[in-house]
Amino acid sequence: MAIQVTEVGDASDLLSELRAWLSENWDADITVAEWWNRLGLAGWSAPGLPSHAYGRGVARSVAVQIAQEIASFGAVGAPDGLGLLLAAPTIADHGTSEQIERFVRDIVTGQKAWCQLFSEPGAGSDLAGLTTKAELDGDEWVFNGQKVWTSGGQIADIGMLIARTAPDAPKHQGISYFALAMHQSGVDVRPLREMTGHALFNETFLTDAHCTRDDLIGQLNNGWAVANTTLGYERSGLGTGGSARGVSVVPGTVAGNLERRVGDFVAPAGERPRRAPSAGQRAQAYELFVGLAKGNGKNKDPLIRQDLVRLFAFGELGRLNAERLKATRARGGDIAGMANISKLSMSSVMRLSRDLGFRIVGSQGMIHAYDSADNQTVTDATHNPFLAGVTMSALYAQAPSIYGGTDQIQRNIIGERVLGLPRDPGNDKDMPFSQLPKNA
Ligand SMILES: Cc1cc2nc3c(=O)[nH]c(=O)nc-3n(C[C@H](O)[C@H](O)[C@H](O)COP(=O)(O)OP(=O)(O)OC[C@H]3O[C@@H](n4cnc5c(N)ncnc54)[C@H](O)[C@@H]3O)c2cc1C
Repeated sequence: MAIQVTEVGDASDLLSELRAWLSENWDADITVAEWWNRLGLAGWSAPGLPSHAYGRGVARSVAVQIAQEIASFGAVGAPDGLGLLLAAPTIADHGTSEQIERFVRDIVTGQKAWCQLFSEPGAGSDLAGLTTKAELDGDEWVFNGQKVWTSGGQIADIGMLIARTAPDAPKHQGISYFALAMHQSGVDVRPLREMTGHALFNETFLTDAHCTRDDLIGQLNNGWAVANTTLGYERSGLGTGGSARGVSVVPGTVAGNLERRVGDFVAPAGERPRRAPSAGQRAQAYELFVGLAKGNGKNKDPLIRQDLVRLFAFGELGRLNAERLKATRARGGDIAGMANISKLSMSSVMRLSRDLGFRIVGSQGMIHAYDSADNQTVTDATHNPFLAGVTMSALYAQAPSIYGGTDQIQRNIIGERVLGLPRDPGNDKDMPFSQLPKNA
């Protein structure tokens, strides 16, 4: 049975309650599993979730303050990853109470890690064009098809899977949403190496993979609405920079962290920052680059100074937009398209940071340690301790303008749904999916 906690409006009372709770419950000598059990069941792992789903029903800004408070106390924060960011809020919105108990509890306590099985080789921006089939066989759903770009698939216990359940319905109306156990013979996860040298994501092959009827999240053939809930949480989570957790630890049965001593994941008291950075400070990546420019003797270069000011302006715009949204929501309103705008802004900041970083480190930017084990060798050769961070984030800077919906798709959404511009012409909204023309 999920805990029942009163919805909270006053953050200062809540933060005092949290500090008292941390003093009583944080113990560096217990396991990560036991710590997350305490944190999650007390409603502190995902305080933004409603009270019937292991949360406290607080606004996102308050949830960020809670995460910062846990970090500045010196405790390990909530489990990292897509379970907490996407699956838990989606299941809280669309799942049954039995599913909340079965899935959300294991997410907030870090027992299970999740991945997102949405994109396919032929269905990314046009996600509703997916072709992975789900067929009912007795009491089981059986899946066949291929997913791609599955971030964290290699360490996931469960996947948020969308598949086609009614091929003769129009494409958005024949999709359903499932929780799929990843550790079964019908699921084959193959890592894909990226330009950074790492393998963050995978391709996932489903060959007679299966789940039970109870693993359908939301109504049959209503998976498009459920998937859009997940995508909404993805955009707002990514646009605000994800979590504010100080120490992030990977949850689930595969990563191997659950039985480790939790205190081993935090820095000793003297080496910790006294306070986690505020939302405003975090938004200002420019501070990091001012330091980088000074460290590399480039802080007097007028072109670099111009870009630093651009970065500052982006940070300020993000902060002011967040304040504007907070004030509007406090009055019961909303600002359409804000999640899309935040995400667009985040990918611009990443690109600007990439260019600025390269300009500051100059020709050394051509040297990258594709294996993190070689970082030290690069540092020793270049005498530049910042270089590995600069090249890694520069090579990763292409990703945010693609994942969670590309920049072009965010602009389409703003154009069509916020500004009321005409949609792309097409007959794919009403025609049965099985009759739509497809690539060979
Ligand atoms: C780092 C990373 C992690 C990811 N993690 C996951 C994950 O965990 N799970 C998951 O399911 N997916 C994940 N994705 C996939 C991501 O959601 C897709 O890559 C994205 O939706 C784009 O799809 P696509 O790659 O098929 O590109 P396409 O849809 O083929 O697009 C190609 C180009 O055409 C443009 N384009 C397409 N349609 C339009 C249009 N209507 N108007 C204007 N321009 C258009 C796009 O903007 C893009 O520039 C991840 C991607 C990245 C980069």
